[in-house]
Amino acid sequence: MIQTLYHVPEYKEELIYPAVCRAMEALGIAGDMRPGLKVVIKPNLIMAKKPEFPVTTHPLVIKAVVRWLTEHGVKDITLAESSGGLYNAEYMKNIYHVCGVKELTPQLKMNMDFSARTVDCPKGFANHSFHIITPVLTADYVINICKLKTHAMTGYSGGIKNLFGVIPGLEKPQMHYLWPNLSDFSRMLLELAQTVNPQLTIIDAIDAMEGNGPTGGTSHPLYMLLAARDFYTQDYFAATLMGIDPMKIEMIRQAAEVGLARPDEITLVGDAVPENLTPFQMPDTKKLDFTGNVPGFLKKSFLFFAERLMKSYPQLNRDVCVGCGKCAESCPAHVIKVENGKAKFRKKGCISCFCCQEMCPVKAISVKKAL
Ligand code: SF4
Ligand code: SF4
Repeated sequence: MIQTLYHVPEYKEELIYPAVCRAMEALGIAGDMRPGLKVVIKPNLIMAKKPEFPVTTHPLVIKAVVRWLTEHGVKDITLAESSGGLYNAEYMKNIYHVCGVKELTPQLKMNMDFSARTVDCPKGFANHSFHIITPVLTADYVINICKLKTHAMTGYSGGIKNLFGVIPGLEKPQMHYLWPNLSDFSRMLLELAQTVNPQLTIIDAIDAMEGNGPTGGTSHPLYMLLAARDFYTQDYFAATLMGIDPMKIEMIRQAAEVGLARPDEITLVGDAVPENLTPFQMPDTKKLDFTGNVPGFLKKSFLFFAERLMKSYPQLNRDVCVGCGKCAESCPAHVIKVENGKAKFRKKGCISCFCCQEMCPVKAISVKKAL
């Protein structure tokens, strides 16, 4: 498995483009290109945030990839994403605009087809089918360009997690409700990733996010652009760069267990991993989590009690809340109401998915542990 890593000290086209060219060459991507190829770029545009925040894929990374594709004869290139929140023209036009991808380059079309289709899953999957945005399903070639981040629910967000954004709009919270437990949710993510199966995954880690990701954390630049065809193993590798034990990230652990992630087979191409990388701050939801150190044979009974003691709940800072209702809109358990201009949370029924925290535009939601 070839894993590329190139140092990119800042978001400048003249620095990013050569790194993209070298990665494409090392991975042999030019050999995949052919006339008439329909390419979809799947970025991370989780919410309407300007590129200077480490929340979304930086537009200059996307621009460099589009430039490379165009120079290799590709004419049909579309950016397709379903952000958190609604999935319609009005909502997505604002996302494209604020995230800096609209009119980024004339060769890149913004997806305006907001339909979705159902695809059946292979036998043996816990999910019988997935409802996926149409442009991703009709593409010949999918390039997954994610942002490296910590994540309140999953701990880590990279290539696998980015593909959750192919589920249309508010069907994403429903998936949380269907699979409220982290283990089941992670298995769903892996089954979805295998269904989409992007040909190439690039991780924008020039700036990355630590702390209360995927939207409420802070900047932790790694000054790196990573790329690989095998995004499962790449996630394993990227987690180690963050100082995270990949085997403590449930989706990566499961990927390694079933042979999707094969860390023993990594051949690193490009620049060396810098020494003395500073470990990323974990989200508040994970800070007290000591269950990873419990021996396997004790795990089942221990987790029964630990899960109750360590369950995290959202906590509102009323002074910060602006009453926009985005948390209520994204809550799969429908336990949030907006009353008198402020969000109001009901603890009973909360599944601790933190979709509310993820979608809050003003960081009004923090984490409270039951312990
Ligand atoms: S908590 Fe955040 S998302 Fe919810 S209503 Fe208040 S400001 Fe909006
Ligand atoms: S209140 Fe927040 S954490 Fe609880 S179920 Fe709703 S979205 Fe998830």
